[in-house]
Amino acid sequence: MTGALIAQTFVRAGVSVVLVERDLIGRGSTAASSALLLQEPDRGLKQLTERYDARRGRRIWRLGQEAVGELVQTLRDLGIPCGLAARRAVYHARTRLAADRLRQEFRERRRAGFRAAWLSAGELRALAGISGFGAILTDGHAQFDPYRACLGLVRSAVGAGARVFERSTVTRINRRPGAVRLYCRSGSLDARHVVIATGYATPYFRPLVGRFRMYRTYVVATDSMTTSQRRELGLADVMLWDTEHPYHYVRWAPHGRLLLGGGDRRLVPGQRQVATFTAATAELRRHFESLWPALSNVRMTEAWDGLFALTPDSLPYIGPHPRYPRHAFALGYGGNGMTFASLAARLLLEEWQGKTSSDHALFSFSRHA
Ligand SMILES: Cc1cc2nc3c(=O)[nH]c(=O)nc-3n(C[C@H](O)[C@H](O)[C@H](O)COP(=O)(O)OP(=O)(O)OC[C@H]3O[C@@H](n4cnc5c(N)ncnc54)[C@H](O)[C@@H]3O)c2cc1C
Repeated sequence: MTGALIAQTFVRAGVSVVLVERDLIGRGSTAASSALLLQEPDRGLKQLTERYDARRGRRIWRLGQEAVGELVQTLRDLGIPCGLAARRAVYHARTRLAADRLRQEFRERRRAGFRAAWLSAGELRALAGISGFGAILTDGHAQFDPYRACLGLVRSAVGAGARVFERSTVTRINRRPGAVRLYCRSGSLDARHVVIATGYATPYFRPLVGRFRMYRTYVVATDSMTTSQRRELGLADVMLWDTEHPYHYVRWAPHGRLLLGGGDRRLVPGQRQVATFTAATAELRRHFESLWPALSNVRMTEAWDGLFALTPDSLPYIGPHPRYPRHAFALGYGGNGMTFASLAARLLLEEWQGKTSSDHALFSFSRHA
C-alpha cells in the first residue's frame, strides 16, 4: 500500500516512477490488513503532547486526519471499487481506571479543537451492545478493502506512466554518481532516488533494524450473520477499539461478517508459529465472546495473522537517513499503516519538490536522537 500510494502520488506529479516488488503487488501486510482507516495514531494526543509538546502532538494528530481525508479523496477521485465507506469510531475503556484516563484524553482532544463526543456506559451499550465505563466517539474515519484499493492505485499509477516489476527482489543498492543502482536477480536499474517501502527495515538495512520492534497481529472473521444475530449483538455500523495493551478492535465487513482483531504479540525468533497462532486466535475469540456472549453462537470462518513494526514512539519514519544518500524511507507504522502510508506519500513528494517544513521533522529518524 505504501509503495502503491507513493508511486501513484509521484507519477501524477510528473516524476518518472518504477515500482519493484519482491512478490505480487498488495500481497504483503496490505492483504492481511483489516483496513480500519483511523485518523488517530496508536498513541493518544495526551501521550504525544507529553512526549513532545502540545504543538507537535496536535500537528501529528492533524496530519493523521488530513492523511485519511486525502486517501479517501484519492480513492473516490480515481473511482477505485474497494468498498470504501465512511465510519465513526468508538474508542472504549473496559475498566474504571482506563475510563478515567480516557476522559483525560477526551479533554485534551477537546482543548485542542478536535471533534469528539463522550459516551457514558449507557450510551456505549446502546451503540455497541457492550458493557464498559465510557468511550470516545469520533467521526471522519473510513474502511475499505485494502487489497482492491492497492491494486486500483497501482493500476492508476501504471495508467499515468509508472512501470511495475513484480517477483523482483531488490538484493543490493549501490551509489553511482548522481544516482543509485538497484540490483535484482534478473537485472538492475538506475534511479535518481529510491524510496524504501518494505514495511520495516529489512536485514539489508542492518543499522536501522534495531529501531523497530516486530509484532504479530491477529484477525478472526465470522460467518455472515443473520439480521436477528446482528440485532442480538447490538453493534451499530461503527468501528470499535479499546484502550487495552495489546488492544482489540472490531469492524463490520460486507455481508454481515465481523472482523475481530488485535491481541498483538511480540515476535519471538524461533517460536513455534502454529502453536502461537492457535493460542492467539483462540484468545482473541474468547476476548470478544466476553464482550458479546451472543458471538459464541456465530461460526468463525477464517483467521490469519501478519507482521507489523513498532517504533519507540509508535510513529513511522518518513524521510531520508544520513547514512543512505539518495534514499528515502517510509517504514514502521504500528497499527495505522494505511493512514501513515497516505501521509508518507504526501511528505515524501513535498521533500522531493524541495518543500520541507516542520512536518517532516515530526517523522524524521532524528526526532528522538
Ligand atoms: C493483520 C493486520 C491487520 C492490520 N490492520 C490495519 C488496520 O486496521 N488499519 C491500518 O491502518 N493498518 C493496519 N495494518 C497495517 C497495514 O496493513 C500496513 O501498515 C499497510 O498495509 C502498509 O503496508 P506497506 O505497504 O508498508 O507494507 P506491505 O504491504 O507489507 O508491503 C511491503 C512490500 O515490500 C515488499 N518487499 C520487501 N522486501 C523487498 C525487497 N527486497 N525488494 C522488493 N520488494 C520487497 C514485500 O514483498 C511487500 O509486498 C494491519 C496489518 C496487519 C498485518
